[in-house]
Amino acid sequence: MSKLIFENSRVGRKGYTLPKNDVEVKLENILPAKYRRKADAVLPEVSELDVMRHFLNLGHKNHSIEKGFYPLGSCTMKYNPKVNEVAVRNSGLGNLHPYQPESTVQGALEILYELQEDLAEISGMKEVTIQPVAGAQGEFTGLKVIAAYHIAKGNTHKKTIIMPDSAHGTNPASCTLAGFDVVELPSNEFGKVDIDQLKELVNENTAGFMLTNPNTLGLFESRIEEIAEIIHSVDGLVYMDGANLNALLGIVQPGKIGFDVLHINLHKTFSTPHGGGGPGSGPVGVVEKLVPYLPVPMVRKDANGVYSMDYSHADTSIGKVHTFFGNFAVNVRAYVYIKMQGAKGMRSISENAIINANYLQKKLAPYYNIEYKNTFCMHEFVADGTWQKDKNDIHTLDIAKRLLDKGIHAPTIYFPLIIKEAMMIEPTETESKETLDDFINIMIEVAHECDSDPELLHHAPISTPVKRVDDVLAARQLDVRYIPEN
Ligand SMILES: *Cc1c(COP(=O)(O)O)cnc(C)c1O
Repeated sequence: MSKLIFENSRVGRKGYTLPKNDVEVKLENILPAKYRRKADAVLPEVSELDVMRHFLNLGHKNHSIEKGFYPLGSCTMKYNPKVNEVAVRNSGLGNLHPYQPESTVQGALEILYELQEDLAEISGMKEVTIQPVAGAQGEFTGLKVIAAYHIAKGNTHKKTIIMPDSAHGTNPASCTLAGFDVVELPSNEFGKVDIDQLKELVNENTAGFMLTNPNTLGLFESRIEEIAEIIHSVDGLVYMDGANLNALLGIVQPGKIGFDVLHINLHKTFSTPHGGGGPGSGPVGVVEKLVPYLPVPMVRKDANGVYSMDYSHADTSIGKVHTFFGNFAVNVRAYVYIKMQGAKGMRSISENAIINANYLQKKLAPYYNIEYKNTFCMHEFVADGTWQKDKNDIHTLDIAKRLLDKGIHAPTIYFPLIIKEAMMIEPTETESKETLDDFINIMIEVAHECDSDPELLHHAPISTPVKRVDDVLAARQLDVRYIPEN
């Protein structure tokens, strides 16, 4: 185990040279005494080389997409082409100020405008706002739009949103934040929306229905038009959680099959890096009748090809959901990705994502329980550890930890909640057959280890820089301070 940077510290050692300060500074003029330190901060004193080695070593200990496979690809991290980074670091984009006059940022506005248009085309929606900066914030925005629609029609009794029990946790949270009550719909035996139950739950108070498609089990909800008809019959709106569009690009336009609102996570499908809480972008698309409620401003292009920030629908808009224009740099990356792929490329992303997921599903089915293995999955599927649990008292958590020993990032586990011991698997389109085969072999190896050495599984990981941590304790009593001995 390498030393902490504090342990490498030696008094007086430094990695910088600055000219002597020739300006007299009176600290008390800058910061009142009550806000100032009583003693000097304990900072590591190290050379430039020590600093570089410190951060490089930390980086090596971490897992990254450049280093190895992520079994839940786009939701965790799918390959983000480096050309995105080159574009976003262009000084003409990176050094802009959000208060610059519009006439001086026409190029940046063009990018945002084109992104709005491309996402509208991909989603089949009339208009798309790119202001929300996360999927959850996109949900909140979309739900506020739904609320505004009902309020404008005087339907203030429409207070409930129905959603399946397989929904992502952010769905009920966003509904509550937006002032709705959640009504849960149990999934049917095929893991999909139960149409008869839905009919029973729908009534005059239904403001809308929120659905992930493909659902979180990786299954395509095929009866969308029927579902939409039921919801529309009470003037409800159908919301699609399109956080992950990896299975639909160029194949399905949600806005054309009955969905009224959807959000898209650019930090999942559209290859912008994320993790550890950000940064993200969660654009929201809507059908024509909901356009007046979208956040302001929208980017518009006039007849002379001049771009501007348009606030003209401010009276009906739900307002702003973020400062300025959302996460500009994330939006630029997604723009580059879309333009480089083109329409054909978009479709092949999804086709390959689906083929890869089905290949894994088929190959892993003899070794892990897969509840819905008799149907093709879309971009992902859910395997589970119930066989291992029943036979060897090994939990999915143990399996996920053991994968770390083998250089594989852990999949998302224990979600969706309706599958016991769940592990979600989504290889994405960019992984080669060889990488998939390696992963399959590792999963088979782990399945054998569950039989031959269950204790190993209970203690895994054994070869990572940090061994198994007590996650609950770490979450409740996080302590990452270094306290020097003297
Ligand atoms: C990731 C995800 C979300 C939430 O997106 P964030 O950007 O993390 O807020 C919502 N729904 C589904 C289905 C997701 O996969």
